[in-house]
Amino acid sequence: MDSATAIWEGGRVRVRVCAATDVGLHRALNEDRYATWIPSDPEELSRRGVLLVVADGMGGARGGEVASRMVVEGVVRSYRESAGGAPAEALRAALAAANRAIHRESMARSELAGMGTTCTAAALLGDELVLAHVGDSRAYLVRNGAIRQLTHDHSFVGQLVREGQLTPEQARSDPRRNVVTRGVGIGGEVEIDLERPAERLAPGDTLLLCTDGLHGLAGDAEIAAVASGRDLERACGDLVALANARGGIDNVTVILARIESPGDGPGASTGATVAGTARASGGSKLARVPGGSPARLRGLMILAFVLALLGLLAAIAWRLAQRRANAI
Ligand code: CA
Repeated sequence: MDSATAIWEGGRVRVRVCAATDVGLHRALNEDRYATWIPSDPEELSRRGVLLVVADGMGGARGGEVASRMVVEGVVRSYRESAGGAPAEALRAALAAANRAIHRESMARSELAGMGTTCTAAALLGDELVLAHVGDSRAYLVRNGAIRQLTHDHSFVGQLVREGQLTPEQARSDPRRNVVTRGVGIGGEVEIDLERPAERLAPGDTLLLCTDGLHGLAGDAEIAAVASGRDLERACGDLVALANARGGIDNVTVILARIESPGDGPGASTGATVAGTARASGGSKLARVPGGSPARLRGLMILAFVLALLGLLAAIAWRLAQRRANAI
């Protein structure tokens, strides 16, 4: 399992982000991909927020892997480079650009023909949320143990559930459950759903993004129960474990973003102002930008003390060596 954690603390809220992806128990390749981007520049952070992206690739050969990597990397890059405009429009434009790039690539390379991917992207702007979405990966809001799906699945069974012809439980075992009706990169243009949930995020809320490797095997209530766990990193790992315990027939990817009150709980030592970076599974490293928190300063003072102590010991050893040399 590949996973990452980052924390961002702004004026009103603190966001703790954990992500994990796993190949599952039956597939040879992991065609899921995720990325998180927490701007280190405060101006960029207030303008663009914290970006979370999950993708589930599809296509022969290595097409699925290529498409999901291209969409998460492309969306993060375009979104962070977008100069103006509202976050929602920037997010839509980022997905549209990734769609064109993936489609071009699939036309240019015969081994990638027909590749495509889902993409669910969330921008957290303080206590507001903007979502851009294509396919059957999902975003959920978990609040006080209750769960609400924030995205509509662009899938055949998703449509039947909306029409009341299938229950969500029946959809999970329906043989047509893998048929998506919209994908990024499949055509030259793609229709992108933009969602702006009305509710303001509050401390204790958990935003959950996942691929169907999780929601196709576990019900909403059990996902909510695990995602509500106090320890977010453990919750992330437990959701992956839940999918694998249910057979692990697919790749599984989860991003959890927990809203906390500023100064809350453990982890404040990672930086009071901003922490984090862009991170793609199997890609770039998680970096943290130093902040000026008391805990960080305490850490630096301890480090300085240890270094001074080592210096002192080295000086004593050197003096002893000199004395021995002089005695000889
Ligand atoms: Ca999948």
